[in-house]
Amino acid sequence: MPTVPRRTTRKIQVGRVVVGGDAPITVQSMTTTKTADVDGTLSQVYALHGAGADIVRITCNDVDAAQGLAEIVPRSPVPIIADIHFQYRLALAALEAGVQGLRLNPGNIRNERHVKTVAREAKDRGVPIRVGVNAGSLDKDLLDRYGGPVPGALVASAQKEIGYLEEVDFTDIKISVKHSHVPTMVASYRLLSEKVDYPLHLGVTEAGPPPGGLIKSVAGIATLLLEGIGDTIRFSLTADPVEEAKAGRQLLEFLGLRERKGLDLIACPSCGRAEVDVIAVAGQAQKKLEEANLPIQVAVMGCVVNGPGEAREADIGIAAGKGKGHLFIKGRVVRVVPEEEMVDALLDEAEKLVEQGVEARLAAADGAAAQLADRTAEELLGVQGDANQVAERRRAVMEAASGE
Ligand code: SF4
Repeated sequence: MPTVPRRTTRKIQVGRVVVGGDAPITVQSMTTTKTADVDGTLSQVYALHGAGADIVRITCNDVDAAQGLAEIVPRSPVPIIADIHFQYRLALAALEAGVQGLRLNPGNIRNERHVKTVAREAKDRGVPIRVGVNAGSLDKDLLDRYGGPVPGALVASAQKEIGYLEEVDFTDIKISVKHSHVPTMVASYRLLSEKVDYPLHLGVTEAGPPPGGLIKSVAGIATLLLEGIGDTIRFSLTADPVEEAKAGRQLLEFLGLRERKGLDLIACPSCGRAEVDVIAVAGQAQKKLEEANLPIQVAVMGCVVNGPGEAREADIGIAAGKGKGHLFIKGRVVRVVPEEEMVDALLDEAEKLVEQGVEARLAAADGAAAQLADRTAEELLGVQGDANQVAERRRAVMEAASGE
């Protein structure tokens, strides 16, 4: 499989999680609970961790929130970053609460002296800071100078803030330059990556609810990751944050940037040849396999004519044909079951595959299954004709019509 060389960045440490350098790209998400609600927030942090978040951000918007952080941080399974907007004193309070990272928005903390005070305190505690520039809260001077929240303005804002931090010898920095317009977001990060070697936190801000929010986030984040840009990511969806963490993790797995931890379900789009309701079967299979939490690639294919061959890269799969389900491993049919049992059989075989490995399961295959599948495929071809024959007939029709 081709791999993309990653742009070289410095390494920083967010608690026990390394960001930047050659460290795995990490997934972040943010809680939506009131931080003062310690148990509610912690339960969301655990849910985000379970869904794939490596780092979780929590707002620190008042003193009650800072006090909540003091209880949340020691009980969290992942490093916690405090999100600070206007009051630098809350950044100091969050550091006192023991957070492993801070996110400052330069457009909101406008006072250089305050930024430096926070940086000195963070440095003493070994806590990194994310300079989180956002198109929606850019400094008015920059907006005037650049004529709007364009890539140059976002990057200039980040550089100004980094300058304050570097002046007090603070370099445990990561940066984001988020925009809700995907091409502008991509251009901003490209520009930033030419100017600094700090690790970059990628995100399309205010992406909105799925599916649009997911598409925008994937378009922006994946484009940059495939250029080797980006060290940590966040999907900003108007949805349960668990969906954000899950999507972030899945994106990294699908791009081959993180090891597969969960299920990768592939399914054919279905067509007139389908012998089963592929959408319904894929939905049932996804539900059962996700509950079983198996780290494998599973294929659900609508017909045995093309299914096993088209999905031969999958670890395991199922293809329908003439009221039966044909279970295959690495493209080889190993078992044939009644159609109504195919999802349960798939789950059973998937569990055995994870436990025993491919070779053992191929050795245990039903010898007659492959021949039965071939016969069914031939019968279906006889009934429906194969794609080549159809093309041949269409050509003949065309020739007849044009008088050639
Ligand atoms: S596997 Fe069969 S049903 Fe699915 S798209 Fe391919 S030909 Fe159509």
